[in-house]
Amino acid sequence: MTVSAKTETVNLLNFDRKGLAAFFVEMGEKPFRATQLLKWIYQEDVTDFDQMTNLSKSLRAYLKEHCCITPPEILIEQIASDGTRKWAIEMSCGNRVESVFIPEENRGTLCVSSQIGCALACTFCSTAKQGFNRNLSVAEIIGQLYVAQKRLGEEKRITNVVMMGMGEPLLNFDNVVAAMNLMMDDFTYGLSKRRVTISTSGVVPAMNRLNKECDVSLAVSLHAANDELRNILVPINEKYPLNELMDACREYAKLGPRKYITFEYVMLKGINDSTQDAFALVKLLKNVPSKINLIPFNPFPNSNYNCSSKQTMSRFKDVLYKAGIITTIRKTRGEDIDAACGQLVGKVKDKSRRHLKLQKMDSSNAA
Ligand code: SAH
Repeated sequence: MTVSAKTETVNLLNFDRKGLAAFFVEMGEKPFRATQLLKWIYQEDVTDFDQMTNLSKSLRAYLKEHCCITPPEILIEQIASDGTRKWAIEMSCGNRVESVFIPEENRGTLCVSSQIGCALACTFCSTAKQGFNRNLSVAEIIGQLYVAQKRLGEEKRITNVVMMGMGEPLLNFDNVVAAMNLMMDDFTYGLSKRRVTISTSGVVPAMNRLNKECDVSLAVSLHAANDELRNILVPINEKYPLNELMDACREYAKLGPRKYITFEYVMLKGINDSTQDAFALVKLLKNVPSKINLIPFNPFPNSNYNCSSKQTMSRFKDVLYKAGIITTIRKTRGEDIDAACGQLVGKVKDKSRRHLKLQKMDSSNAA
């Protein structure tokens, strides 16, 4: 973002450490002010500039006049019987996204959205049906982690972030990368790079750029092992077909600690779930260090697909497993609150008024 602090209020949640240091340098301050400020915001939970006692009085006065620390707001909270929590979070202009917290024994994963709606037209995805509205800002992306962690409190730490909510994160590259850099910064949440995962439908040029610019784990939504079917399920495949996608994956896996790529494969009854499909997948991934995550399809109204049976999924898994590929079938979480994968907003949208009435919290509660 441009630094036009003199004329309009700058939301400091829009800066990663580098951006914040540049912001301070431009106003004649030392770059280390950036780490001081990040600590106040993300570690000390202080948003009142007057309380930032290691900043000079004049700097505090300047920040008060020209800057703000404004996170998005939790509008609705739903808690499933398995402890999964879903929040509808209000962004500026009244747009809303949903973030989901999935507690497990040794970790807590937050599923974060990158866009309002989505421009891609994956035929099995409910977000795709809404069309594209806009990119989220850095403040709106990091803000999901900020409000979620605050809401959960100290005893429930968010240890993992997956960019698997609404939107295609690689089509909002700059803001998503800045927000992921912030999440991994030692002066904010200090998440390990192995525990921050970006999921893409396969925007190949952006994957290659990510490879050079940001060190996070990569998940690729594959869903088909041949171009003919993938062109239908994930239409961006027409632009970046499987051979280009696999090249980009091999390149990505070459670097340091990344070791392997996670491939997501949604199980669609009678569409992509035969043993031949499984063998084709093994062949496709032969030279790519891979893990496969089989995702039970989550139906939504007018989705026109069904989920494969348990038996079919486990047969499919066996083929992959016998070929030496680490394969898991994703456990469906938060089913009773529509928090499961692919259910963000879509169907929930029609119901949201009702939920709003039932569950609207007063904002002091949400903080
Ligand atoms: N656009 C990114 C990230 C968002 S979707 C991507 O495509 O990877 C996160 C995951 O949920 C993707 O693997 C997506 O294919 C999957 N998904 C979408 N709709 C689904 C549904 N109805 N059931 C199961 N998985 C779904």
